[in-house]
Amino acid sequence: MAQEQKSRVHRYVAQDLSFRAAVVDATLVVREMQAIQNTYPIATMAVGRSMVAAVLMASHLKHRQQVSLYFRGDGPLEMFFAEANFEGEVRGYTPHPHLEIHKKLGATNLGIAIGKGLLTVVRTAPHQKHAQRGTVEIQTGEVGDDVAYYLLQSHQIQSIVSLGVKVNAFGYVESAGGIIIELMPGAPEDLIKKLEKNFAKRGSLSESLAEGGGVEAIRDLYLKGFQLQELEHPYDLEYKCRCSKERLANALMLLGHVDVEKMIEDNEPANAKCEFCGRQYVVEIDELRELLDKLRAGPTH
Ligand SMILES: [Zn+2]
Repeated sequence: MAQEQKSRVHRYVAQDLSFRAAVVDATLVVREMQAIQNTYPIATMAVGRSMVAAVLMASHLKHRQQVSLYFRGDGPLEMFFAEANFEGEVRGYTPHPHLEIHKKLGATNLGIAIGKGLLTVVRTAPHQKHAQRGTVEIQTGEVGDDVAYYLLQSHQIQSIVSLGVKVNAFGYVESAGGIIIELMPGAPEDLIKKLEKNFAKRGSLSESLAEGGGVEAIRDLYLKGFQLQELEHPYDLEYKCRCSKERLANALMLLGHVDVEKMIEDNEPANAKCEFCGRQYVVEIDELRELLDKLRAGPTH
């Protein structure tokens, strides 16, 4: 692919401080998730939307803080997950990337895919011993509504959350992005009406993105006519997971030399899939031999 410009979250605050907003074009990171996990449309939309939501929510936190969204339900998709930090690093996952739902039921109906269940939001900060955790019932499973419900229930924040992932006829991500508007406490009643009016009039968010309108197009769909001030947020979005081959090797070290010997004997390289990003790792036989040497040399710590 030609050099595509990296994107970042754009943050705004109303001149009169009645609301704050964050807008993002997350097309590239959602495409990357799809490339790693080979997700079909329903999983692409579920994981993609939750990645967009996590990125937007994390942009309202502080340095090195992160937010994780876990959707767990009784539908065939079972669960999907996304995590992002303030600095724009994001990852997402579902254990059922190839799920397909019968057309009659609504092939792109996330509500049916995830079913009834719970959304858990976990916020972590580097120096906090305990993560902050909130759980609400899944409302529609369309992700945006559920995040808005969580913000209201857990933080008493009125918000508009709109997320879109557009998949083309071949199942590939054409665009992905979203906006979150959070009202400040005591925001005037007519403001909510005005925002809702824009909300009702809006075109399709992912459609505008696909047409190349970028962040400005989304912002204008929702916030035209408002005096805004843009806040600095100089972090490029990046699909990033903390997993690595070293981690798999470390896990094998913990198994001990008997198991590693057996793998070498059976001529079976060690395989593992990261459950957070879907990357597949293989430790080949000669690498296993090196590990075994280390194990036989005894503990190094
Ligand atoms: Zn990973």
